[in-house]
Amino acid sequence: MTITFTIVAGIFGLVFGSFFNVVGLRIPKKESIISPPSHCTNCQRQLTIIDLIPVFSYVLLRGKCRGCGVRFSPIYMITELLTGGLFAFAFWEIGWQPELAVALLFISLLMIINVSDIAYMIIPDKVLLFFLPFLILARIFASLEPWWDSLLGAIVGFGILLFIAVVSKGGMGGGDIKLFFVIGLVLGTVQTLLTLFLAAVIGMFVGIVILKIRNKGRKTPVPFGPSISLAAIIVYFYGEPILQWYGSLFNF
Ligand SMILES: [Zn+2]
Repeated sequence: MTITFTIVAGIFGLVFGSFFNVVGLRIPKKESIISPPSHCTNCQRQLTIIDLIPVFSYVLLRGKCRGCGVRFSPIYMITELLTGGLFAFAFWEIGWQPELAVALLFISLLMIINVSDIAYMIIPDKVLLFFLPFLILARIFASLEPWWDSLLGAIVGFGILLFIAVVSKGGMGGGDIKLFFVIGLVLGTVQTLLTLFLAAVIGMFVGIVILKIRNKGRKTPVPFGPSISLAAIIVYFYGEPILQWYGSLFNF
């Protein structure tokens, strides 16, 4: 039965992932997420059901518009696959617990801001503010131990990033700072610090790889959101064992 539900969760994730692409692309441009219906941004052709089946359409049409042949970025298919995979994994790991609501909300938020951050280098306030009350509510029903660790985590996450932003004079975007408030709420203090450390390591690695690929010597900023998201998801599911392993190195 668990396997059936896990597969269902995965399919839901694929469909939601497809929707998250639309949300992530339209919210920063202040467009409605309902109308107009999805269309090719190059030739304006309205996408039909054949174009909109998650992952399947992308593979079948080889990532091209059926109207004008322009290539769609693989990022959108990756968002669908990741959301599907993570929804399924969350259900498999957590099952029918209140914590599942936290996991699904957290994954959804991170997927949407990734799309926005990659497309426009923006982590939209609107998306953070939309998810915040739901995440607070979910964290009340599935509270951390002790419960105030959420509050402290949010303050510490926000505070450290604000400090980095001030010291580095804008090396950290406002969206990243607010995102860490939400991460602190979900993960608590210690795991938020671990997320920050891991995000910095991943971000550095991503930065080096992207510089190598671009190889133009231009100093275009690299969005930090995806690195934060990856770190946050790793810590959400594996923070406990990572910290135990780290502690065992020093015989804590
Ligand atoms: Zn087109």
